[in-house]
Amino acid sequence: MTFRRNRPRTAGWAAAALVGCALTAPVLSPSATAAVSPDVSYSDRNVVAGTNVRAVVRKSTRPAGTTLVLQRKYLDKWRTADNSAVETKNGYVLGVPTNQFGEFPYRVVAKNGNGRVVSKSGASTVTVRPSYKPLGRSTQHVFGAKPRVRWDSCDPIRWTFNAKNAPKRALKQLRAGMRRLHLATGLDFDYKGKTSQKPNPYGNNLEGADVIVGWRTPKDYRVFKRNPGTVGIGGNKYYSGFQEADGSPVNKAVQGGVVFNASMRGELRNGFGRGATWGEVIIHELGHVMGLGHPNADKQIMYYSIIGRDADWGAGDLAGFRRVGDVRGCLKRTPGRASNAQGRFAMH
Ligand SMILES: [Zn+2]
Repeated sequence: MTFRRNRPRTAGWAAAALVGCALTAPVLSPSATAAVSPDVSYSDRNVVAGTNVRAVVRKSTRPAGTTLVLQRKYLDKWRTADNSAVETKNGYVLGVPTNQFGEFPYRVVAKNGNGRVVSKSGASTVTVRPSYKPLGRSTQHVFGAKPRVRWDSCDPIRWTFNAKNAPKRALKQLRAGMRRLHLATGLDFDYKGKTSQKPNPYGNNLEGADVIVGWRTPKDYRVFKRNPGTVGIGGNKYYSGFQEADGSPVNKAVQGGVVFNASMRGELRNGFGRGATWGEVIIHELGHVMGLGHPNADKQIMYYSIIGRDADWGAGDLAGFRRVGDVRGCLKRTPGRASNAQGRFAMH
C-alpha cells in the first residue's frame, strides 16, 4: 500500500488572502477572498473491497472555521461519504467507503458554520474491485421490464424474513446475500426482523417492510407444485412515470419478495461455495427483486439455472446492477405524468 502526497497548490490560507488583497481594491475582508482549497491525498485509489482507505487533508489547507466533508459523486449530485474528519499529526483523516464495487469520484469540501461550501478539492477516482476476477462480459445482463425497474436509492430497502420451513442458518445466509447485493448496487438493505406473513414475489400487503423473503412448500405454494424444478422465485411491484437525473425513464420498484422452495432443502447446500447452494439461489432471486432478468450467459449468477461455481457476481451481473444501483442517483417523477401505472414481474 502506498501513501501519495499531492503537491500543495497554495502555501496556505494566509497566502491566498494576500493574493486576493493584492489583486483587488478596495481591500476585502478575509472572508470575501478566495479560501484555500483542501489538498487531499488518498492512501490508495485502487483496492479490493473491504480495504481501509483514507483521504488525508493537509492541515494548512483547511480554511479557518470550516468543517471538512468527503463527498462522492452520483448521477444527480455530490453526496456526503464521511463528515467526521479526525485530526492527526499528518492531517485531517476521512474514511473512504469500500463496501461497493465500482469507480467512484471523490472530493473534499470545506463547509462554513452555515453549511455553505467555501472551497473544494479537485475530484479523484477511487476504484473498488472484487477479490476475484468477474467472469464473462459486462454486456451479459438483461432487465426484467422496459424501461428498467429500479429501487429509489435514496431510501433503504426494509426487508423481513419468515423463518418457517427455512434451512439451517437461513438468516445468516440471507444477511450475507444482502451484503453481496449492496456490494453490487450500493443500495442499503435494512433488516426489520422476522414476520409471520407468507412470502410472495410481489411483496403484497407487507407491514413495515418493502421486501419479504422466506421458504414455502409445494403444498402451500402452487407455483412450486406446477414447476417442480424451481428452487426460488423473486420479483417486484413497480410504478411507471419516473426518471433519473439525465432524463432516462425508469419504473420505480415499491415492493418485492422472494419465495424459496422448501422441498429443495435436501438438494442444496448452505453457503456460497461451489456446487448447488442456497447462497447462489438467494442472490439470484434477490437480483430479480432488484430488477434484473436472465441473460443467456452461463457464467452469470443471473443465468436462469444454477451454475454451481462459487456464488460470485460475473461481469455482466455487476454491469446490470450498476444500472439499477445508487450511482444512478435518486428518482424523480416524470413531469407532466398525472397518474402512474402499476406493473409487476417475477421470475424463477
Ligand atoms: Zn431467475
